[in-house]
This record gives sequence, C-alpha cells and structure tokens, in this order.
Amino acid sequence: MIPIAKPIIGEEEKRAVLEVLNSGMLAQGKKVTEFETNFANYVGVKHAIATSNGTTALHAALLAHGIGPDDEVITTPFTFIATANAIKMVGAKPVFVDIEEDSLNLNPDLIEAVITAKTKAILPVHLFGLPADMKKIQESADKHNLIIIEDACQAHGAAFDGQKVGSFGTGCFSFYPTKNITTGEGGIITTNDSALANKIKKIINHGSEKKYYHDCLGYNFRMTDIAAAIGIEQLKKINQFNQKRKENAILLNKILKDKQGIVLPLINEGHSLHQYTIRILPELGKTREEIIEILKQTGIDSSVFYPLPVHKQKSFAEYNHLTLPVAEKVAQQVLSLPINPSVTTEEIELIGKTIKELV
Ligand SMILES: *Cc1c(COP(=O)(O)O)cnc(C)c1O
Repeated sequence: MIPIAKPIIGEEEKRAVLEVLNSGMLAQGKKVTEFETNFANYVGVKHAIATSNGTTALHAALLAHGIGPDDEVITTPFTFIATANAIKMVGAKPVFVDIEEDSLNLNPDLIEAVITAKTKAILPVHLFGLPADMKKIQESADKHNLIIIEDACQAHGAAFDGQKVGSFGTGCFSFYPTKNITTGEGGIITTNDSALANKIKKIINHGSEKKYYHDCLGYNFRMTDIAAAIGIEQLKKINQFNQKRKENAILLNKILKDKQGIVLPLINEGHSLHQYTIRILPELGKTREEIIEILKQTGIDSSVFYPLPVHKQKSFAEYNHLTLPVAEKVAQQVLSLPINPSVTTEEIELIGKTIKELV
C-alpha cells in the first residue's frame, strides 16, 4: 500500500533517543530547551514552548491569553476536532464561520459579521498546510482588538507572503506521527511576546517557575527529552521533507490538470503540502466511496479529511442547527491522496494514472 502518511525515522533519530535513554534524564530537560530554540529560529520568533501534543498547545495558548467562560473565539468548522475542542476546554464559545471554496480555509470576509462584544480571538487553521489569509485576518483582528491564535498543526514551514505561519499570532503546532515532522506525540507554541511565553511555561508546568512554588493553576503539558531528541533531528530534515511533498503535489496537479469532474488543490509558494486534497464532483460519474475502493485495489491508500464538519458532530449538538454551506458541501467531496516524502515519483505517476482513468 502507498501510505497516506508515514513518519520517516532515520538512524539519527534512533541514536538521539538512545543517547537520552542512556543519560537517565527522560523527562523535560536540555533536549527540550534545544528543540525549543531551534524551532523558534526556524519559525522566526523569539520564543517556542514545547508541549505534550498539539491539543495541549492550543489549550495552553488560549489559557495564557486569558480566554475563558463568556468569551467567544471565531474559527473554522472544517478542521480536526481538536481546534474547536480546545476552545471548549477553556470554557469559551467557538463561533464558526464558513470557509472559502478554493482554499478550504476560514473565509476572512465573514469574520466581521460575527464579531460581538464577547469576541476575544480569531483562531484560523492553516488547513492541509495552506496558510489562511493572514492579511485580512490581521486587519480584522487589529480593527477590533482581537488576539490571533494560529492552529498551525498541519503547517510546519508554511508561509504567507514570505512570513512563516506561527509568527503572525500565537502559533500552535503538533508533532503527531502523521504531521510534516514528528516527535511521536508532541506540540509547540510560538510567540514573540516574552511575558506570554513565561505564562505559557507556567501553565504547562503546574503553574510553577521555581520548583514546588506554584503561582497559578497549571497542568502537566510538558514534552519529554525523548520526544525532543527526535524533534531536533526531524527539524534538520524539514525543508527536504517539505520539498519532496511539494514536488509530489506539483507532479500530481500536472498529471490531473485536464481531468474533468475533479477540483485540484490550490498550490502556492508558501504551501507546506501536509495533505494533497482533491474534490470529487458529481460529473465524474463515480462516488467517493467507489474511488477509495478502486485506489485500494491498486494499492493506494487515501483518506477523507474531514467527512463531517465540526458544527455537525454529535459532540457539538448545540451547533447542529447551523448551516455553513461551503463546509458542508466540501466535506462530501474531499479526498486526500498520498504525497508524503516516502512516496516515489513512480508511485505519484500510478496515483495520477489511476485517478485520470476513472470514468
Ligand atoms: C493534529 C491537529 C491538532 C492536534 O494535534 P495533536 O498533536 O494530535 O493533539 C490540532 N489541529 C489540527 C488542525 C490538527 O491537524
């Protein structure tokens, strides 16, 4: 099977983990600090604070900004559930606005209409690695004095107008094994605000700066040195990984450019190609389920990110009455194909040929 996602772990990562195991220092220590410094440099921000995963990164970022009960946070319904769950975890209310049909990201032109006196933040997601429109989002945030928290969990290395994502607002990343780089489980928060960085460090460590002195309620959201050691090695390879993803995606777009009945993903310079996601239109004459089956028979894995928008999930029952037509339509159409760095040019040609020959 050509896998939709595959962590690429080399000898360097294995050696680095062994070194940590042999050192006897397994929890948070020097490796975490080194990873944080390197990641902050990569994104181009002053501070990065490593966490246990992307969800705890979002949770801690919201807490550090003082967002809680009675506050509203504007976000997209077309994302992994963690984005909206984190808003609920701090007791705030997610406010969903519909997405753009071409980028599949939060539609910035719909933000102003839902801003109320309770709105505290905008939480865009750079879905599949394509940056959200940070220019327009920034304009709305500035105009209404709102915080920006970026869900960059799928967008390591992505850039908007040449500026890396995670540096526009408070950035949250995940290092789950399917992401562009991994630490097993892990996450990180990026910011230029030193006071905010200090708050985050406390929140993820039981409210403590000095051992056994606790200044505020906090959590154990820490990353381990074992995870950080993997991350340090993965970060050295990120540009090479992202480059291969992009080459694969560009080749697939080229092979499929004249195919009727499918919409190809928008690819631009700043896209980090976490996923390559096409949309299946009715005129193709085959259902998504039939296509998934044909791909499977050919040895090609594929996946639907995401079959149900957040506002239609059972766990978001209080939002089920909402209608957000673009998100609901594309959720029926999307299909992600393998372009991860382990996929060879020959395999991309097979994937392209299989889709092209669908009638
Ligand atoms: C992966 C992901 C998360 C959560 O990250 P975890 O490390 O799995 O907790 C949040 N938001 C988006 C968009 C993601 O893809």
